[in-house]
Parts: sequence; C-alpha cells; structure tokens
Amino acid sequence: MKYILLICDGISDTKGKRGATPLEYANTPNFDSIAMRGINGIMDVVKKGVVPNSDTGHLSLLGYDLKKYYPGRGPLEALGAGIELREGDVAFRANIATVDKNFEVIDRRAGRIRGNLTELEKAVNEIDIGADFVFKHTVDHRGTLVLKKFKQKASDTDPHIAGKKVLKAGKVLDQFTKKCYEKLGRLELNRNRSLPVNMILLRGAGVYKKAPSFKELHNLRGACIAATALVKGVARFCELDVLEVQGANGTENTNIHGKFKTAVDSLERYDFVLVNVKATDNFGHDGNFEGKVGMIERIDGQLHVLEKSMNDCILVITADHSTPVEKKGHSADPVPISIAGNGVKPDGVRNYNEYSCAKGRLKRIEGTELMKILKKFT
Ligand SMILES: [Zn+2]
Repeated sequence: MKYILLICDGISDTKGKRGATPLEYANTPNFDSIAMRGINGIMDVVKKGVVPNSDTGHLSLLGYDLKKYYPGRGPLEALGAGIELREGDVAFRANIATVDKNFEVIDRRAGRIRGNLTELEKAVNEIDIGADFVFKHTVDHRGTLVLKKFKQKASDTDPHIAGKKVLKAGKVLDQFTKKCYEKLGRLELNRNRSLPVNMILLRGAGVYKKAPSFKELHNLRGACIAATALVKGVARFCELDVLEVQGANGTENTNIHGKFKTAVDSLERYDFVLVNVKATDNFGHDGNFEGKVGMIERIDGQLHVLEKSMNDCILVITADHSTPVEKKGHSADPVPISIAGNGVKPDGVRNYNEYSCAKGRLKRIEGTELMKILKKFT
C-alpha cells in the first residue's frame, strides 16, 4: 500500500467570536469530498493536553515515541539547515543579537537584522574556543550552531529576554560568548547599525543520537515535501528523502500545485510521502482569520491533484497541531483527521473540520497511533 500524508500546518482552530472555525467557515468542497469518502476522527497529536510544536507534532505522526527519540529542537534545526550530525554532537538554535559591555541583552534579534550575513558567519566560525564547532546563518536573525563531539554538559546561553545577562554555560561556551563580543562588534556590517551585531545567543540545546529510520520503523520507503527548515530537519532525522519543489516557500504564495503533483509522481519511487503546507500556521500566529480561510480555500483548490491518486493509495489529511487565530499560537486542541482512498469505507461524515470529524468512526486517537492505523489498510 502507498500513502500520502498531507499535513496542513496548524490548520486546526477553535470557534472564536465568529462562531465558526476557519475550516467550518471556508468553502471547502474538496476537503469535504475527501472526508465523505473516508473515515474521520480527531487526534491529540502528541498527547491529550500537550501543546505540540511542529517538530514534536511531525515526529509523533511519523510514529516516533518522543520520550525515547526526541533529540531537542537544536539538532532538528541543524539538520534542517543542512548540517550533517554525528552521534554526540550538541546542536543549538542561534539568535544573532545585540548586548552591552556587561553582556546584558539589548535586543535578541539585533534590530531584526536580515540579508546576506556571510561576513558574520565566517567571523563566528573563525573564533577559537578550543572545541570544534560550526555556525550557520539561516534566515534573518536566526542560525544554528553545532559543537562537534562535545563531551561536556552543554546548556543555553540565551536568557530569552532583553535586559538580562547572557547565561553562563560552562568554560567552552563562556569563552564563545566572550570572543563573540570581542570579535563581532568590529565587523564591517556594524558600521551605521544602531543595534550592532555582537553576540550569538544559543538555545534549544540537544545531543544528537541516531534514531531508527522511518524505513526501519515501518518498512516503507518514505519521502517528505516541505519548505520549512524545521520540518526538513525532522525528515532528515527520520531519514526520509527531502524532495525539492520549485516555488515551494512556506508562505501563502507557495506552489501548492507543484507540491501535490510532486507527491503523486513520487509514489512511483516511494511508499509514503509526507507533504507539509505551512502558511495556515503563519496566519494562525498572526491572528488573521480571513487570511487563514483564504489559505484553506487555496489548498482546497488544489486537492484534486491528490484526489486523483486515491484509487491507488491512502490519502490522510490532518495537522501537526492547532494554531487558533484567537490564541496567536499553538494549542493542545485536537486536530481533525480524514483517512480516505483505496479500500477505505466511508463513515458518513460530510465535512472536513474540527467538529464534523469528531463524529467519525476513528473517534479520538493519538498521533503515534496513526502509522499503526494506516498499516491496517494493506
Ligand atoms: Zn506546525
């Protein structure tokens, strides 16, 4: 059996002051037709009452027990940025920041710096701290740092709030903090900057340990189509092949058609394809109800591309977590799920949304059960 798992990032929501969720409000004939042809339910992606992040959400859906295998955010970000990790490497998320001479944080984002930061990346990598490391700038004020085969205990240096001092984190990282300040402040890019780049703050520390691959866990050849670095990082962690699609950019203008077409075409080579569409989550974070409705309708407009493959495969439509527009952040609310396609008998649900799906035959499941449920359709 072949599978397409469509994860509409944060599509799930709650009834706000409009009395309807964006999924209920939007015009979604194709989402609904898939729900009508399938079995439906709601899902606690990690566990009831636990708020998932995109990384823990995706890992759970791929059948990974987080207690056993979750490496922390740092290693997943590093993998997403294209850094190769070996067992024992310690990885962090990094913020390019501004501090004062007492190492008190003035701005955790150095005035939301953006653009090409090759000069900065090079300067950071030249710092000598008596330990092997690599720093990579990703987007805007963000980056990732990996300490290679680091034997000591590593913790965050980021105090997470302006006005506080950079945290002490052992001899090696304290040295890193000191030398960042000495070296980066003098960089050419700081000429004319009122908030100079003079610190790299580290958080999300995690030790990389190899987990069983998706193939080893489920005996399926898997691939992933995603624009977001973090989701790509999860895919690389599970050894799913990451397929690139032109114009896929994680925003509302992303190439949905291209992503869906690539997913269907790749079923020739793979048994399982995860497709992540990100922008529904972005609108949730922005508290933009209309924007989220529009994005849902845009996805709906391309679902026919996936629907065509349903005679030959199982199509799953769900989310990695809820991102309610009224909360402007993730919540622990369960997400709707529809499983349709080859051999699946409909359960009478007529709409794809948080409330209709709850009446379906799947009832309420947990994210890590999904792969087991899917394998029953072989
Ligand atoms: Zn997410």
